[in-house]
Amino acid sequence: MAAPKVRKTQILIGDQWRDALSGKTFSTINPATEEVIAEVAEGDAADVDLAVQAARKAFDSGPWRTMNARDRGRLMYKLADLVEENLEELAALESLDNGKPISDARNADLPLVIDCLRYYAGWADKIHGETIPIRGEYFCYTRREPTGVCGQIIPWNFPLLMAAWKWGPALAAGCTIVMKPAEQTPLTCLRMAELALEAGIPPGVINVVPGFGPTAGGALVDHRGVDKIAFTGEYRTAQIIMKAAAESLKRLTFELGGKSPNVVFADADLDAAVAGSEFGLFFNQGQCCCAGSRIFVEESIHDEFVEKVVARAQERKLGNPLDASTSQGPQIDQAQFDKILGYIEQGKNQGATCLTGGQRFGDKGYFIEPTVFSQVTDDMSIATDEIFGPVMNILSFKNIDEVIDRANNTFYGLAAAVWTRDVGKAHRIAAAVRAGTVWINCYDVLDTAAPFGGFKMSGMGRELGEAALANYTELKTVTMSLD
Ligand code: NDP
Repeated sequence: MAAPKVRKTQILIGDQWRDALSGKTFSTINPATEEVIAEVAEGDAADVDLAVQAARKAFDSGPWRTMNARDRGRLMYKLADLVEENLEELAALESLDNGKPISDARNADLPLVIDCLRYYAGWADKIHGETIPIRGEYFCYTRREPTGVCGQIIPWNFPLLMAAWKWGPALAAGCTIVMKPAEQTPLTCLRMAELALEAGIPPGVINVVPGFGPTAGGALVDHRGVDKIAFTGEYRTAQIIMKAAAESLKRLTFELGGKSPNVVFADADLDAAVAGSEFGLFFNQGQCCCAGSRIFVEESIHDEFVEKVVARAQERKLGNPLDASTSQGPQIDQAQFDKILGYIEQGKNQGATCLTGGQRFGDKGYFIEPTVFSQVTDDMSIATDEIFGPVMNILSFKNIDEVIDRANNTFYGLAAAVWTRDVGKAHRIAAAVRAGTVWINCYDVLDTAAPFGGFKMSGMGRELGEAALANYTELKTVTMSLD
């Protein structure tokens, strides 16, 4: 497939596409070739200020918040339709900028983006309060009002999908948005914002300021005109944001990383567990917050599991992401590439056995071979740290109580999985593991309707489902005397 045309590289403020006030730009790189795709306007505090003013105006006096909720939903459906009409272009652009295989962008990311926009379009006219029977002669009711101007800061692993997860509930609730996409992957977000204007979503409702985290992102967090920050990324960045946001007590929601346990019991359907574990770790080049990166396998089936999973890892086809037969693309950038190879070295030095992979693939682009380690112990850095790459770690266990303790022995709590034919065991694990999502005999089954988010240091608040609407609404209580 030919590389798609890049249409938008400027900052979107209201309905104006502008260069950065500083005139600065930065390069977005094709991670498969290390070549520059385009120069993108580099927004900073001055541009963020203009974007917040536009979002503020659209919220305070614009039509979005006060529009009939059904009409708001209709415009969101229209945006979803336009994304669907342009699916091939957006999928190719995502693949080019992020390096993910075109088949994943086409069959996973884009359909999920469209589904997310439609799901929340359906919510627009179903967000309502309650009547409350308080004491005395009063009529008391609640209203769910939009939170206001939302600063949304997203990462590079699912650029368009993360934008949709944030736009969907915010738009349905009547909020306005200033989004800062990741510096590595600004292109699809800018193109979807263009489609939002084409759909008729009023100017100022969605503003996009590409730029760097500490400058553009930091300015959004500091800005007094922003009511709420929604962030997805690393927990250390969330800590910086939380400290900075304390000044204005902004509403915060975080979707952060993980070191998710994936527990395979001896009574599991082994082939299904192997396939699910391979997918749960290697999907998206291992760059998933919920990657099943600690695979606990019951001792009696350990060797058989290892043999089968290594064979599957070796079948993965690395190559040009725009080739439909590719199943694994490059890592996002040089920094991630170096970090992952560093962890592989640590794994080897700390005594784990590297059964396959462990090297760079090819001599151009940030490709890393699918890597499988066995003989991993709980204290090794490959078992404790979020690697965010194609590095599978297999640990063995003897019994359920032990594996529950070890699964919970992490400050993360995003996801977990269990593979067993014993329903009692499955639900015992589901209840005992401190994680926001537990999959039983499956992995990475995400649906727009089902809440997603982390316990412990994996996040605050929930995305998706009805739960995400709470992130974008303020509850107001109204009490009227009946005398
Ligand atoms: P970050 O948390 O640094 O980046 C996520 C987003 O936050 C980006 O848009 C980034 O901008 C922005 N940002 C960075 N610093 C600030 C700041 N001080 N104030 C406001 N916004 C900021 O993650 P990285 O992209 O650097 O990835 C590093 C690691 O994070 C990965 O190896 C992985 O472990 C984890 N990660 C987890 C993700 C998840 O889904 N939970 C997603 C991505 C990464 P900019 O792009 O300019 O850096």
